[in-house]
Parts: sequence; structure tokens; C-alpha cells
Amino acid sequence: MNSKSDQGLDQFLFRFLENRGALLERYEGGFEALLPEALSDLLKVPEHIRIGDGADSGLNGQAFAGYGSPFLDRILEIVCGNIPLVSCRLEVDYLKSRGFDRLIGEQFRFYKFTGRIEATGTTNVHYLLLQCHYVAQSDEQKEGLVRLVLNCETGAYIPGMVEILSDPKRDFQLLPKQLGDDLRWENALAHTKVHLEEALRGEIYPFRESMRRRFRRDAANLEEYYHSLKREMEKSLEKPGLSEDLIRDRKEKTALLPEELARKRDDLFQKYSIAVRVVPSAARLIRIPVVKIIYRLSAGKSQKTLSLIYNPVTHSLDPIVCQGCGKNIRDIYFCPHLHVLCSSCHKKCPLGNGE
Ligand SMILES: [Zn+2]
Ligand SMILES: [Zn+2]
Repeated sequence: MNSKSDQGLDQFLFRFLENRGALLERYEGGFEALLPEALSDLLKVPEHIRIGDGADSGLNGQAFAGYGSPFLDRILEIVCGNIPLVSCRLEVDYLKSRGFDRLIGEQFRFYKFTGRIEATGTTNVHYLLLQCHYVAQSDEQKEGLVRLVLNCETGAYIPGMVEILSDPKRDFQLLPKQLGDDLRWENALAHTKVHLEEALRGEIYPFRESMRRRFRRDAANLEEYYHSLKREMEKSLEKPGLSEDLIRDRKEKTALLPEELARKRDDLFQKYSIAVRVVPSAARLIRIPVVKIIYRLSAGKSQKTLSLIYNPVTHSLDPIVCQGCGKNIRDIYFCPHLHVLCSSCHKKCPLGNGE
């Protein structure tokens, strides 16, 4: 039943899961995968899944059926070749020195903890401006560019910063390659995937909606077709003079129609699901003077110090990042080991007892 394009998807998924440590076993028409716990959490699927056909592989209850689920939409393949990395610095006219308490109150909510500013000081922070070419594949293909800025120290994604930096009046001074640039690049890149999903969401939204609409339209047509087919077949049984064999044969065929419809609907599901591939095409490390704020939080005997960064380009504090999933967070929770977590990672800290 697998068409050529489905096999392409199979291979794509196979490589994706293989690269992330899944144990895989092929069988005719698909494969089974045993995922590491972290990966199954990330993709929100069971640890034991089945991709492709093979309803008879004996994995009832654990089977993962169909491509058109959010599962595939979540997958991003990031392919990094050797792209030129340019280093530069950006001067700013003015660095704010007061009013950080208000900004902290506006931007963050610390669950159960209260905080106060212990110290502030100016320093330089590197940001990565990353430009990527993306290809979203479904029944049709959409491609384009997506650009985003990350704080190289924390891995936070800074929404809105690309637009401000694109202002031609911004004066970047090129720097020779700096010590530590490679590390900064790697650290930022390690955080890129989770943020790319967010940066791409708006970009791909119309495409995704169009695929969804077409799926719904085709599925409705398909159902209509099968309903009228069923009506016709039932009606033909009312004709006088049919042999018993013919009647039995037609009844059997009619009984098989719902199953056939379900299969065709699955095919449509696969046809309109979306896989996204992202290839970075340009990168720039930008050194910017910032204000670092040492912020001390406490709840009873628990104490935690965070270092926050005031970003003079966006005129706001850089987002705080969840240590569990790497997403930007507004509502900040702490586990008993004082890891900085989002509300969903807080339910079960993914970092366990260690760092
Ligand atoms: Zn999290
Ligand atoms: Zn923890």
C-alpha cells in the first residue's frame, strides 16, 4: 500500500529516530521503533511505536497509526553544513541603569519565590543571528527563509530582535574570529531546534491550514462517494430476479465498504501531513554590551540566584529558559534541586537529581 512518497517519509522518519538513539527494526511496509524516554516525552508518543503499514505486527494498543498526526508536524530535521560564521560587534548609545525591578515584574512570574536585585553591572554578551532555509513537505511543498536571534549564553530565543537588527542604520563592526566563538556557536545551535519550531509556526501556518482544509475537503468527498456507493449497491439488491449467489456476493462487498473507506482516509491523512527540513544558510555572532542583573530568589530556606540580562536592543530582559525543555518561559518554577523549569517540566523534573 505504501506509495513512493510514503517510503520517502519512512526513510526520513527512520533517519530522524535513528539519529536520536532509537532502536529500530524494519519489517515489510514499515518499521518498529523503541524510543529513549526523553525522545518519547519530547514527541509525546509511546516509547514503542510502529511507523507505516503492518497492522498484523502484533503491537496492538501500542501501535502508532497514520502520518497525519501532530507527531510528524513536530519533527524538524536540522542539517548543519559548514556555513560561514561572521563575528561582529554592535555599539549602543545608552545603557539603562535603573528600573529593572519593574521590568522583572512585567516579564516574569516566579512561582512561590520572591526576589530582589543583588547587583547589576555592564558586560558583553554574544547573540547568534541565524538564517535558515526551510522546506515544508506535504502534498505540496513550501520553502522560504526564517531568521532568529538567540542569546549564546543561555540559549534563549529573543523574539522581535531580528527585525530591530535588520534596520540598515544599525552599525555593525566586523571582528576577527574571537576565542570562544565556536563554543558560543555550538551552544546556541544546541538550543536552536526548540526555538525554530516557534519561529516557524507563524511562517508555516497558512501552508498547514491549507493542507488541513484540503484534507477535510478530500475526506468529505471520499465519504460522500462511499455513502452513495453503498446506497447504490443496496438499491441494486431490490431488483427482482437476482440469484442468491449474486445477492450474497453484493452483500459481502457492501459490508467491506467501511473498512475500505477507513483505509483510503488514512492514505489521505498521510498525503497531507507535513515534514519540515531546515538548513542554516548564514550565521552572525554579534557582541553587544548589556546589563547583567544578579537576582536573588528565596522561598523559606531555599535560595537561588539567577543572572538576568537587560538587552539594549529590545529594551527588555532576555527571556529565561527552562532547563528541562529549553523553551522560553514567563512563569518560572523550581524543583527541589532548584532547577529552573516551565510548568510542564515542573510536574516531573527531567534533570533528576543532578545538574
Ligand atoms: Zn520545560
Ligand atoms: Zn530538578
